[in-house]
Amino acid sequence: MFAVAIDGPSGAGKSTLARRLAKELGFIYVDTGALYRAIGLYMTKQGVDCANAEAVAASLPAVHLSLTYEQGVQQVFLNGVNVSKEIRQPAISMVASVVSAIPAVRAFLFETQRGIAATHHVVMDGRDIGTVILPQAQVKIFLISSVEDRALRRCQELAEKGMETPYEKVLADIIERDRRDATRKTAPAVAAKDAVRLDNSGLAFEETLARAMAIVSEKLSAFGWQPTKAAD
Ligand code: C5P
Repeated sequence: MFAVAIDGPSGAGKSTLARRLAKELGFIYVDTGALYRAIGLYMTKQGVDCANAEAVAASLPAVHLSLTYEQGVQQVFLNGVNVSKEIRQPAISMVASVVSAIPAVRAFLFETQRGIAATHHVVMDGRDIGTVILPQAQVKIFLISSVEDRALRRCQELAEKGMETPYEKVLADIIERDRRDATRKTAPAVAAKDAVRLDNSGLAFEETLARAMAIVSEKLSAFGWQPTKAAD
């Protein structure tokens, strides 16, 4: 199986890039942040304090998550209910970041992520894909961009989804999530030693895509991969 791991901080444009790469390559796109978001959503709905690691861990056995793909678009099911839209709320971004620092949560999601990559060619994005989940991935990209660019991008994404949020609030949230994601003890969001760093500050999306495709093609070709016609 071929795996492309895309890691990097919040709002660097990982999901847009990963989704497009997957389409170009004919691989499936796995958005792992959605799994942490679904757990954050579950705990919030159950009134579990997300900062209480023991309480969160004790509630995990009641969480059943599954990912399906509808025309290449990932859908997340939490205990049988499609929560793909609900998990995108800014409040859920924050609780996802809090629960993701709990080792029991990361252990709980480990097999789900590994399992998909064991049976499909994937482009998987997250924070620890190249370091922990798929250390054997043939391609690892660590996508970064300035914090201001990331906040702007997140604002646009939220606005497109009808969730207008002030720039200052988005910026403050990103700074806080960066700090938590990079300093947590379990699987901090850092680049794998063999990851290629791609800084898209000030780059148009098509330029970022072209650079990422060049990295992917070069690395995958060395493993015998041959381009096929892009999937629709
Ligand atoms: O990527 P997204 O913003 O949807 O992720 C939500 C949160 O889940 C992140 O802030 C991060 O704390 C956490 N996360 C993680 N490891 C991953 C994916 C996401 O810790 N592989």
